Amino acid sequence: MSQPAPLATATAAIARSGIRELADAATHVPNAIRLDVGQPDFATPQHIVDAAKQALDEGWTSYTQTQGLSSLRELIVAKIAGVNGYRVEPDRVACGPGGVSAIAAAFGAVLEPGDEVLLPDPAWPNYELMAAWTGSRAVRYPCRPELDFLPDVEGVRKLMTPRTRLLVINSPNNPTGAVYPPEVVRALAELAERHNIWLLSDECYDELVHDGVCVSPAALVGDSRVISAYSFSKTYAMTGWRLGYVTGAHRLVESVVKVLESQSSCAPSISQKAAEAALTGPQDCVRTMRAAYRRRRDRVVARLREARLLISVPRGAFYIMADVSPSRLSSRDFAFRLLRERGVSVAPGSAFGQVAARSVRISLASSEEDLAEGVDRLCRLVSELAHRER
Ligand code: PMP
Repeated sequence: MSQPAPLATATAAIARSGIRELADAATHVPNAIRLDVGQPDFATPQHIVDAAKQALDEGWTSYTQTQGLSSLRELIVAKIAGVNGYRVEPDRVACGPGGVSAIAAAFGAVLEPGDEVLLPDPAWPNYELMAAWTGSRAVRYPCRPELDFLPDVEGVRKLMTPRTRLLVINSPNNPTGAVYPPEVVRALAELAERHNIWLLSDECYDELVHDGVCVSPAALVGDSRVISAYSFSKTYAMTGWRLGYVTGAHRLVESVVKVLESQSSCAPSISQKAAEAALTGPQDCVRTMRAAYRRRRDRVVARLREARLLISVPRGAFYIMADVSPSRLSSRDFAFRLLRERGVSVAPGSAFGQVAARSVRISLASSEEDLAEGVDRLCRLVSELAHRER
């Protein structure tokens, strides 16, 4: 009998995503109300779909440059100037199949085995996976509910060691909806500067802000050490098209492109043509979707507040955290119980780190009816569990 071929230890050791675990279980529950998924319930706007069809007819079916079509990158440069408030040149933009791959390529470009990468807690779970395959160590800095899920800059500073090479920030935030104020962004950027490390600013929800503004560190302090990441997925309801990009210093983008070359050769050409239409076409679709998320947020905030389960009012993205600690269950146990007994699927806070281990994430990218019913069932289950006999 031959031995099984060994797997990479770091990758094999990664626990299964707590979001996926619930989502998979939800597929076995008939008529489950799905508040777990982090993707828009809107269809991609028609003019973008039409542009993709036209691109197919015109034969845009080949590889493109690894970092993306120059015509697309020209348009991205204009978007960055208009929306994010700083200047880049097209050769300092690298597109990848999804923001996730552009971000992963940036991890690959700056991290070496043994390095430490500072990640928020709670955070989008994919950063941990990226740290694992680069052989770096994820160190989590808490973004506590008492501070409206904002990072405590002094707390971040204390976690820095000579091995720290990358600080990741994410505003508007998944899973909390926090939008970092300019002074916090500036302080974190200055911290990165003082310690001579990279700052990766994940701004994939940059156009989904309800209160305040999404401030890019690159606009505040320049982008010599800032890597900024964006996506077409959320803004234009294009999750399945797989297109995102990073911007940064020349030498950084050169390295990012090498990693992308090894992983994907290029982002899908048809999606790149569709993205051009997204950037040049009417933007009222973005405003309409943003208004819908805001309306949903306001309704869910009101319901959670009434049930005393509101932690913080999300200011951006399309998520809200609900406190389930009165249930006296862990977030995972609560989420499974809510699914099995009430047919509602949410993401357990433990999927995002330690800090949110007693709360669950509700996605506002679900219909208003589902949200109203699902959140109501959640509130009632917490209340029933809170009043049960010990
Ligand atoms: N960053 C964050 C914080 C996200 O939540 C996501 C998607 N869930 C991404 C980046 C990447 O999105 P995509 O790969 O679809 O562009």
